[in-house]
Amino acid sequence: MDVKLDVVTNKLAGKQTITYYNNSPDTLKKIFIHLFWNAFQPYSMMDEVSRRTENLVLGRAAGGGVLKDFDRRFKKRISDLTPGEQGYCRVSKFMVNGKLQQTKLNETILEVFLDKPILPGSSVVFNTEFECQVPKLSRRSGRDSPEGVRFSMGQWYPKISEYDHEGWHPDQYIRGEFYGVWGDYDVNITLDKKYKVGATGELQNATAIGWGYDKEGSPLKETAEPLRTWKFSGKNIHDFVWSADPDYKHITRKTENGPLLHFIYKNDKDADPYWQATADSCAIIYPFMAKTFGPYPYPVYSFLHGGGGGTEYPMATLVKNYSFETAVHEWCHSWYQMMLGTNENLYAWMDEGFTDYAEAKVLAWLRKKDFFANAEEYGQYFQMAKSPYDEPMSTPANDFSTNYAYNTNSYYKGAVFLRQLGYIIGEKNMDKLLLKYYELWRFKHPTPNDFIRVAENVSGIQLQWYKEFMVNTIYTTDYSIDSLWEEGGKTKVRLNRIDPVPMPIDLQITFKDGSKELHYVPLNLMYGEKPVEDSTIPRKVYEPWKWTHSTYTIETNRKLADFTIVEIDPSQRLADIERKNNRLQLKW
Ligand SMILES: [Zn+2]
Repeated sequence: MDVKLDVVTNKLAGKQTITYYNNSPDTLKKIFIHLFWNAFQPYSMMDEVSRRTENLVLGRAAGGGVLKDFDRRFKKRISDLTPGEQGYCRVSKFMVNGKLQQTKLNETILEVFLDKPILPGSSVVFNTEFECQVPKLSRRSGRDSPEGVRFSMGQWYPKISEYDHEGWHPDQYIRGEFYGVWGDYDVNITLDKKYKVGATGELQNATAIGWGYDKEGSPLKETAEPLRTWKFSGKNIHDFVWSADPDYKHITRKTENGPLLHFIYKNDKDADPYWQATADSCAIIYPFMAKTFGPYPYPVYSFLHGGGGGTEYPMATLVKNYSFETAVHEWCHSWYQMMLGTNENLYAWMDEGFTDYAEAKVLAWLRKKDFFANAEEYGQYFQMAKSPYDEPMSTPANDFSTNYAYNTNSYYKGAVFLRQLGYIIGEKNMDKLLLKYYELWRFKHPTPNDFIRVAENVSGIQLQWYKEFMVNTIYTTDYSIDSLWEEGGKTKVRLNRIDPVPMPIDLQITFKDGSKELHYVPLNLMYGEKPVEDSTIPRKVYEPWKWTHSTYTIETNRKLADFTIVEIDPSQRLADIERKNNRLQLKW
């Protein structure tokens, strides 16, 4: 791509040359192109959905008043944008192998009718010419962010929609969540010479540019021309982001056996120490990330100050400030989106939920905190599950009735899905699963089924039931300790399943002398059992609980008078929406 940005008119003109390979077994008669910025116009589908959900009252807010539905990326009403603040992306020419094609615009999707179909196993060359107006920052991208960054360029160019085993995915830009084609990008960006640029990929003309790209701390090179061209390249990526500002500062950090990290941010002496600290911590966490999630294969990663919150892109992210937590979250998306590129619109939870889980793992490791204790994802999920607003996690991102259900499902329930899976298959299997999933499915667009199959293979436990209940229903789990009694020299504990979603049970009994017993009841749908997780506590394994049956009784040789605590899942990984009835403290 060759693009030229006019920093006065905020308009960008560009040309693309794309070699497109049809690796599918199908003949393609049409191509769909995303033109995301057309969403930033009054009465667009995104505007309509924003206005509708913005006024939806969810209930009472914690601090009084009403709780309205919200979108965390909502910054400015699209309907309030003036013509000069609106965004658009227009394709004036679309050519295939040098021949002009007929097109039809459908808001954020351009349909291209091919005069000659693209045959399986063949490749063609697309040439496009396009013009965009950079919108005033509304969501994720645009100009003049509240933090003062002039250009945050995400979702900015005509981007080919993905064609996979399910066909085309010409999703309109409504709520967000993306899906793309892996490819090699060469992007040449020309703009006012005073501007400094950060982007996806590696800068190819670092010697001509300077500014820390050739060596740490070097100044931006002088040029007699009014404009300057920055040339970036990235391989095997499915999107490209960049940002530009005349007041940017650039620092780097080297990671151990990993990428060079770039931090490009507004030069502000108050904020600088925080950016430096975030940069230091990011360099420290990489070896843990590589060991836990698999190595990061690209040579660089750039944290770009800009956007509206934090948005992930390949080899880079837009972040609105120096928040270390946000930086970790966005970088974790390099695994759970950039390499394991699930269709985000269909399976947003495999993107945001898995990333949330990965972020929590990294932060717990760095801060030497217990990853399992007080995981906030459970509370958020329980609150939604008990509200009238829950919808199945399988709902496409664009189709949720509320932003609340979309956010809570994709971030929190998605993370709970993984945390609870650790309870079912054991943490050692969970560690193996993360690496095996990465190894088998990176750069292949996995689906929930693909993930669950890997989980089954590493654990030897059947898990389709788990996927079906958690992903395709809004049913919940609730177990309780029903009753305790002595009978025939033994103490018996009856467990009760109240809600429909069945689970294996870890029941821990603590005795007066401080000793403990773990009574493990696998679920019959598992056709297997998890390995011992804590070898310091003796574990008794029971015959599996038939999932249709609502009660199960376990027993111990110890006297009831010796009991102090009986508790279902002391690890709190089970997503039991009523935890009050999971624990019984006996007072004698
Ligand atoms: Zn995220």
